Amino acid sequence: MKMFRTIVPEIITFRTEVMSDKIQAGLELIAAIKAEHLTPTELRIILHTLITKDWSLVRDIINAAINEKLLECNEQTYQITPKASGLKFQASRITKSLKPGVCKRCGKPLIVCYYVDVGSMTFGPFGSMCIRKVRLV
Ligand SMILES: [Zn+2]
Repeated sequence: MKMFRTIVPEIITFRTEVMSDKIQAGLELIAAIKAEHLTPTELRIILHTLITKDWSLVRDIINAAINEKLLECNEQTYQITPKASGLKFQASRITKSLKPGVCKRCGKPLIVCYYVDVGSMTFGPFGSMCIRKVRLV
């Protein structure tokens, strides 16, 4: 019983940290997207593929991005507006690697891997087609 009491608060703290890290990573990813407009579906799929399989967390990331003025909701599209946001983002950087890997988006084996570094996180590897499909180039 004593053990249980001490373990529970630690788990809760850990979970909260994971949540906010994922939201932070989601905001950085949105800022790195090389498109001005995305449909809600496109944006949700990108976040779901790269950040979290948890759809409610995907929604939390989008809401946080709207609150931070990183996204503006216009009729059926999201406009990506990092300049309007008060947050500072590092410019994203793409690295190419000749070490074999497996594409994070489609699961295919890769000979040439592309990684996108957005500051606190690196996304990838991706193939040359998939890195375009997640709008990171
Ligand atoms: Zn792929």
